[in-house]
Amino acid sequence: MSNLLDLAGIGAGPFNLAVAALMRDKSLSHRFFEAKAEFSWHPGLMLPGAMMQTSYLKDLVTPVDPSNPCSFLMYLVENKRFYDFLHAEQRTVTRREFADYLSWAARRLDSIQMNSRVQSVVDNGEYFELDVHGPNGREQVHTKNLCVAAGKKPNIPECSRSLLSDNCFHALEIALRNPDVSGKRVAVIGGGQTGAEVVINLLNKHWGRPQKVTWVSRRSNYLPLDETPFTNDWFTPEYVDVFRQLSPQRREEVIAEQKLASDGISPDTLKELYQLFYRLVHLEKNSECVSLMPNRELVGMSHRCDYQLQLENRLLGSADGTEWIDADIVILCTGLCEALPPCMAPLQEQIARDREGRLLLDDAFAAKLSGDESGRRLYFLGTGRSSHGIAEPQLSLSAWRAAQVVNDLHGSAEYDNQQTSNFMKWITPQAEQVAVA
Ligand SMILES: Cc1cc2nc3c(=O)[nH]c(=O)nc-3n(C[C@H](O)[C@H](O)[C@H](O)COP(=O)(O)OP(=O)(O)OC[C@H]3O[C@@H](n4cnc5c(N)ncnc54)[C@H](O)[C@@H]3O)c2cc1C
Repeated sequence: MSNLLDLAGIGAGPFNLAVAALMRDKSLSHRFFEAKAEFSWHPGLMLPGAMMQTSYLKDLVTPVDPSNPCSFLMYLVENKRFYDFLHAEQRTVTRREFADYLSWAARRLDSIQMNSRVQSVVDNGEYFELDVHGPNGREQVHTKNLCVAAGKKPNIPECSRSLLSDNCFHALEIALRNPDVSGKRVAVIGGGQTGAEVVINLLNKHWGRPQKVTWVSRRSNYLPLDETPFTNDWFTPEYVDVFRQLSPQRREEVIAEQKLASDGISPDTLKELYQLFYRLVHLEKNSECVSLMPNRELVGMSHRCDYQLQLENRLLGSADGTEWIDADIVILCTGLCEALPPCMAPLQEQIARDREGRLLLDDAFAAKLSGDESGRRLYFLGTGRSSHGIAEPQLSLSAWRAAQVVNDLHGSAEYDNQQTSNFMKWITPQAEQVAVA
């Protein structure tokens, strides 16, 4: 078949953009399909002042291919702001600037086809058939290999599912909804970075002046993201390699133990929040406008003219800690969860999973298709936390991850992805264990 692609990609968020950037000058044919008409990166959470939690050097390409024309440094140079950027001495950049960089990179890559939603994927045993709804109507695309990086879906607490509305919604869309909270009692559920950013913007009257903001967190406190040097060593290719050697049970334990390395609130945001609360409560004498409730899990919800939220405080033990609060608006900052896009439904049964239903991905992020001996590759990016560890849903390793895919696809080391190990000795070498025994 003459028009059979070597690789098609579903989605053109940062993870597939990295693959596209590294495939740019390679001989294999490739196209990436993106449903949005114009590039945007989490536009619903593009809130004033939001900062990246990852260094701009961990961009789409630099860690594996620093001379690639899609690097962040190239973006600065081409936009004629290299020196100003340098003199601003920023450790991280705003989310807005990073999104602009991603958008700039997407425009330079001919393989990205915007306004093209992959409606379904069928496996005919020799290649994948994609039904793509693009700007010029429907197109059947045939590809030998497929790279799925279609993002995650909002995690909605069970008790809120039937109550979703204009006044009870997930924060992922808040900047697009632009809710009017003037004079309203607002409950923010979730004590991570998104919850923190939403609370800051509520109290800064970005959506009007709320009567009261109640911030509920299941965690024991408003806990910081750990971005210290040794913790950052968990976000390295070498550590992923170590993680891959752990048993499934140890992997789950390690992921739980490392939660705050990827899921806490940036220390700068915490400082900003505390200073804001200090000003409101002590200087503006407005202690009624904010209530912080850590240790509480949202366990029940009902709606009459407003919302009644049942919270369980487990600090003192079990059942005695039940409280109810009322709110006019409920904003769920309850995170995102891994999910395959609906277009992959026809392949669901064929994709190998473990007993808990988690994807079984190999070192190159490829899943096994049951009964398939053809050697075709089906990559999943951003959905392998249980197989590759806490760095998987993050940008930190997106260039390295993309290089793993590109090398695997070519069957050769197109990019030198080998890292020399540093001073961290994560595991006991087998030989030494035997000697001691
Ligand atoms: C607000 C926010 C801030 C974040 N900040 C950081 C950070 O600072 N540092 C960090 O390491 N991580 C961060 N993350 C986590 C992670 O890096 C991002 O979520 C990242 O965008 C994931 O990239 P992705 O390409 O997998 O998915 P997405 O960026 O979600 O992109 C997926 C794309 O696929 C498209 N798509 C879906 N289905 C189809 C289909 N059927 N056909 C065609 N296209 C489709 C979607 O339109 C979307 O554009 C952040 C996450 C969020 C939500």
